[in-house]
Amino acid sequence: MAGLIVNPGTQRTTGKDALSMNIAAANAVASIIKTTLGPKGMDKMMVNVMGDITLTNDGATILQEMEIENPTAKMVVEVAKTQETMAGDGTTSAVVVAGSLLEKTEELMDMGVHPSIIVKGYNMAAEKALQTLKDYAIEFPKNDRESLEKAAMTCITGKASEIARDVLVKMCVDAVYAIETDGEVNVDENITVIKEVGGSIDDTELIEGIVLSKEALHPEMPLNVKDAKIALIDTDLTFSKTSTKSRLIIDSAEQLLDFQEREKADLRADAQKIIDSGATVVFCSKNIDDYAVHYLKEANVFATRRLNDDDMRMLSRSTGGRLIRNVSEITSDDLGYAEVVEQVNVNEEKTYVKGFKDVKNMTILIRGGTEHVTNSVERVFDDALHVVQTVYKDGTIVAGGGASEVEVSQALRTYAASVQGREQLAINAFADAVEEIPRTIADNCGFDAINTILKLRAARGSVKYAGVDIETGEAANMLERNIVDPLRVKTQAIKSAVELCTMILRVDDMLKAREKAMMDVAPEHNIHNYDATGMM
Ligand code: ADP
Ligand code: MG
Repeated sequence: MAGLIVNPGTQRTTGKDALSMNIAAANAVASIIKTTLGPKGMDKMMVNVMGDITLTNDGATILQEMEIENPTAKMVVEVAKTQETMAGDGTTSAVVVAGSLLEKTEELMDMGVHPSIIVKGYNMAAEKALQTLKDYAIEFPKNDRESLEKAAMTCITGKASEIARDVLVKMCVDAVYAIETDGEVNVDENITVIKEVGGSIDDTELIEGIVLSKEALHPEMPLNVKDAKIALIDTDLTFSKTSTKSRLIIDSAEQLLDFQEREKADLRADAQKIIDSGATVVFCSKNIDDYAVHYLKEANVFATRRLNDDDMRMLSRSTGGRLIRNVSEITSDDLGYAEVVEQVNVNEEKTYVKGFKDVKNMTILIRGGTEHVTNSVERVFDDALHVVQTVYKDGTIVAGGGASEVEVSQALRTYAASVQGREQLAINAFADAVEEIPRTIADNCGFDAINTILKLRAARGSVKYAGVDIETGEAANMLERNIVDPLRVKTQAIKSAVELCTMILRVDDMLKAREKAMMDVAPEHNIHNYDATGMM
């Protein structure tokens, strides 16, 4: 008896019930996300406990904001996260396919197909699907700008205003080309996206180098430093650095004066040390006292303070400068280099650092009328930059708009017919699950999904890249329309769906501890439960 071996507060669900419960929870998540898929997908308005509002149709963002508690639903969220890290886009698609495959899994179980057969069939199907995708994909040389732009455009469609789209796409591709070093690109390391409310999306700029939302600590400091030797100070440049830790007993006015003089002398010595190292620019992560500012200014050094850790790290990587924690040990070897450090006014003062020796950094400065606009453009960039990176690295795209999914599902159905045994059923189920993508895109455009699917299947004979025409619901050649997705977005979604279902199929027993807060607050409930488990 369950009550005898587990904590009496534990909820236990077994066998088919456990599976059904898991699937129901996962499906609840998938169905919320579903309506956002595709260019005509709707947005979700999310309000957190603080009352902050997020308007988005980005799958990853929605799931993150939803604060999901259910363990299986959390596994679905993991699918989205994996998709995000591995492919940079396609989170909604991945969740929709996974959710749909889970639904089919339950149907198979109801038909009496054993979980191990289902898992085997799914793996056979996945292998076939990946091969089909690979054959269906289009390869192109790395420097094919057009393909990158098409993929970025498909990714942005439905997420940014029509007018801004061309500008944003061009900016993404320009940025990726600009950071390319020896054929490699790393958008996470070398492209920074920052936001500035004010102006309109059209004012969004691509800037070479690093942009800091900082200004010089004194107006008389040089505001344009060429051949900058940069000191990255990772400590305070203030009086009494030790005063919080040690205690000093002063019992006369002379002593106090003397003490202050000594502190001033220390700080002056620190400033002098920095100046002597040859630094012409100081970026400090902590505070710089006015007294030190004065010395730096007198020596024609540009200085700014309270930079965040990310900026300090990035500056260190790009300029080659070392983070200095002990100012008295600074030497010219510690300094970083940039061709220019200058203060520029963009709505408010900013500091541009550009022209590094080995590293190429780009900054995208997003502008927009309100925070909601800049936040949503930021998410668009996040997706589009990663899509461009993926396509740049892999050099493979597939036709979008559900075209590749129809190709895969039809290939699976043909394959299934050749398979003996019950695995056939699982492979067919897999075909249906993949087809959920064009079905959902059509649905979200307001078309009859069944009709659209039938049209796509029929068109395949004559049009190789037939996908959903979002204006008519008819089949259209997606390649001709420049609607393409990275191959990796599709392969990853399939892998994740199989992994999720395999994991859930292995579960035949679910033991859920009672929430701790409840146990603490309401002990009488425990007692009641204790009786109810039959342990009188
Ligand atoms: P995801 O989070 O999965 O990327 P999206 O909402 O971005 O979800 O939708 C992506 C899907 O929309 C892809 O299948 C893509 O091919 C399709 N798509 C994008 N633009 C178009 C378009 N203009 N016509 C048809 N399908 C499109
Ligand atoms: Mg997308």
